[in-house]
Amino acid sequence: MAGIEVTALHKRYPDGTVAVDHVDLSIGDGELFVMLGPSGCGKTTTLRAIAGLARQTTGDIRIGDTLVNDLPPAERDIAMVFQFYALYPHLRTRDNLAFPLRAEGLPKAEVRERVEEAARLMRLGPLLDRRPRRLSGGEQQRVALARALVRRPRAFLMDEPLTNLDAELRADMRTEIKHLQGELGTTMVYVTHDQVEAMSLGHRIAILNKGRVEQIGTPLEVYDRPATLFCAAFIGSPPMNLIEVEVADGKLRGKGGLVLTPPPGLPRDRDLVAGVRPEALEVTEPGAERSVPARVASVEWLGDEIIYVVDHGGERDVRVRMPPTGRFAADAPVGLRHTGGTPAVYDVKTEELVA
Ligand code: ATP
Repeated sequence: MAGIEVTALHKRYPDGTVAVDHVDLSIGDGELFVMLGPSGCGKTTTLRAIAGLARQTTGDIRIGDTLVNDLPPAERDIAMVFQFYALYPHLRTRDNLAFPLRAEGLPKAEVRERVEEAARLMRLGPLLDRRPRRLSGGEQQRVALARALVRRPRAFLMDEPLTNLDAELRADMRTEIKHLQGELGTTMVYVTHDQVEAMSLGHRIAILNKGRVEQIGTPLEVYDRPATLFCAAFIGSPPMNLIEVEVADGKLRGKGGLVLTPPPGLPRDRDLVAGVRPEALEVTEPGAERSVPARVASVEWLGDEIIYVVDHGGERDVRVRMPPTGRFAADAPVGLRHTGGTPAVYDVKTEELVA
């Protein structure tokens, strides 16, 4: 097993596209590290560079103590799982699993032992004698994962491995991957554009945008204190409300009148925006204490919670997440107040967290 160090990784494709722009990552031994970002942010290029499938323009990659820049993929001792299962259609599960081991020339008994162990871990016992076309999508993906496991690599690299599965299977496989990674303790780098997947899987998450790292942190850190406006708008569903604010008399006040608790160390003379999570706001009866007058623009009832979209004092589309009690109807005059903690505050110009 091994950690992975990516230093000043830069990738420029021949057509001039800069896909990765000086990325630094320090991934711990045994860590489940997620790279998250929108389509085109450079996740796959970074992962392929680690795997040795795409050569970086500049920068270094170390796996364990080895500088692997010049090593071909097969010598990096990593296993990669893609969104497409890439199983051999003519081979039964057991032979699909054994294939990479036979290719390495391992003795028969060892091949059998490793295949059995991977089949046990991925619960493939009943499927060992089937060919891929007789397996469901989820089963095929489990076989693909098992085929990565049998090699006992120093690290797993996963590129959106669950994309082609339906929602329920995705959730099951997510749990399975997390459990498996915990049990094996093998370093894993997992690429996804799905924040729910990232939050539920990752020990830490790197949020990428336009080839650069915007933030690296635990799921809690990136949720509570997004480092940039990009992260604030990207993480959370619905995302943070970004409310223009002013500081006056030691108070932090939204342009629409909403009163917020000021975090310490607020800079002066800058245009500021506060990031307020929907669950840190509350829709009240009109005139309730500390509330500002508002109007419900629309209501989404999701069973276990309600999302209100509220307008107040010129601020539009503020989202509020509440338990499904005390419902207010669309168009109703209501109050809006801040209930939770201190907000994250951003400098409009630099787009970075300042307090
Ligand atoms: P997705 O989630 O859509 O796969 P990604 O975050 O993995 O996106 P990359 O596939 O790494 O992003 O692509 C990063 C950027 O590099 C994009 O702008 C993409 O268009 C560009 N790119 C990728 N491969 C090539 C290539 N072979 N030649 C030129 N540009 C490329």
